Amino acid sequence: MTQKSVLQEAREVQLAVSLIELGARMQFIEAEVNLSRERLVRLYKEIRGSSPPKGLLPFSVDWYMTWMANIHSSMFYNIYLHMLQHADGKLDALIKAFRMYLEQVHAHGDTPVLDFTRAATMVRFFDGDMLQLTACSRCGGRFVSHAYEGKSDYVCVLCQPPPRAGKKKAPADSGGSDGSAVL
Ligand SMILES: [Zn+2]
Repeated sequence: MTQKSVLQEAREVQLAVSLIELGARMQFIEAEVNLSRERLVRLYKEIRGSSPPKGLLPFSVDWYMTWMANIHSSMFYNIYLHMLQHADGKLDALIKAFRMYLEQVHAHGDTPVLDFTRAATMVRFFDGDMLQLTACSRCGGRFVSHAYEGKSDYVCVLCQPPPRAGKKKAPADSGGSDGSAVL
């Protein structure tokens, strides 16, 4: 085992700080950052002012298909694909894309529907071929869909909103029930 250089260590701490600030779960940070759990927990407490929440929610791909979640997920994933071409690896792309997603949502005066964990989980679902982007046959936009979605007659959630979407729904209600949607 080689000793970590001071510079390397500083980079790991900076990465951990970025992830904690974006709302990443401890399990995710532990998997991506080469620091001890004790140090990560101390960092977490210092930055967020509380202990990290326990447990990682097992999200299903269906969450990304509901109306508001699908619009936000599609927007995020298109940003992510763009970032992948310019970023320094997948994690860097994920961090940059999530920051830009938050900026875009706030610029429009909306509430984020995706949190960092959902965004990271979505990228994993794409990597595992459980999700894909499918072009809408009406507007041509590329939307998050099931991997087995038929491509020729796909119509997106914007072109064909569900009936309940007509009723003005507070964006905060679409974030799920785990309370982690709001950073
Ligand atoms: Zn469409």
